[in-house]
Amino acid sequence: MKSTTIILSITLALLLSFHGIVLLTNENFLQCLSVHSEDTSISEVIYTQDNPLYSSILDFSKQNLLFRAPKYPKPQVIIKPFHVSQIQTVLKCSQKHGLQIRVRSGGHDSEGLSYTSEVPFVMIDLINLSSINVDAEKKTAWVQAGATLGQLYYRIAKKSKILGFPAGVCPTVGVGGHFSGGGYGYVMRKFGLSADQVVDAHLIDVRGRILDRKSMGEDLFWEVEQLALESLLLGK
Ligand SMILES: Cc1cc2nc3c(=O)[nH]c(=O)nc-3n(C[C@H](O)[C@H](O)[C@H](O)COP(=O)(O)OP(=O)(O)OC[C@H]3O[C@@H](n4cnc5c(N)ncnc54)[C@H](O)[C@@H]3O)c2cc1C
Repeated sequence: MKSTTIILSITLALLLSFHGIVLLTNENFLQCLSVHSEDTSISEVIYTQDNPLYSSILDFSKQNLLFRAPKYPKPQVIIKPFHVSQIQTVLKCSQKHGLQIRVRSGGHDSEGLSYTSEVPFVMIDLINLSSINVDAEKKTAWVQAGATLGQLYYRIAKKSKILGFPAGVCPTVGVGGHFSGGGYGYVMRKFGLSADQVVDAHLIDVRGRILDRKSMGEDLFWEVEQLALESLLLGK
């Protein structure tokens, strides 16, 4: 009986101190964001677990409803950046304070990899980085990773009646995660995968540098283009 009590109290003590560490880490992380941010607007894109909007933002694009169950770990903080510089700040501070990062574009990952993790983490939700600029003459477009396939198809159709882009059939799938998996759809036989048609990409590396195809080099481009925040697409 005695030993059970000791074990229980040790477990409790460990749990409490772990909770304390997490709280402290979060606080330091948030402080780091405000110190290192280029402008004050970063506070407007941070959602901590006590924010009334936290749950609705987290659940908004989760396609696998299983992961709404409380037993699945949630991000310590959600960031919904409007600017790439805000992502660079999150990178810097998460490294400094030992938090991992999950990146979510359209939230269609069946295993929840974009919004759950076994270790303390921050989720970057790219939903606000969804601009699409189509150049019908050059038959190219820049699309940010947070755009959905439906938004991309719509923007191309607004500019041209003959151009299109080979990608999936579900309009709510996100560009960021879709291209990283290859991306197949109705016109695959003729035009191949979405990834086959990516001709340039911008990515943020672990040091916070923004690289394009030229500066990252060909090997990295073909290997990790899926980490791109923006992809330049070629329509045929
Ligand atoms: C209803 C439904 C229909 C589908 N239809 C098709 C289809 O027709 N064709 C097809 O090929 N696939 C299809 N898929 C699969 C879909 O393409 C993949 O699940 C894809 O990974 C989803 O991308 P997402 O951005 O929506 O998901 P997310 O959950 O946001 O991301 C998926 C993965 O990519 C990572 N990621 C996302 N964005 C970035 C980024 N910018 N930088 C770095 N990593 C990132 C995430 O961390 C995660 O690991 C479908 C899936 C569903 C649920």
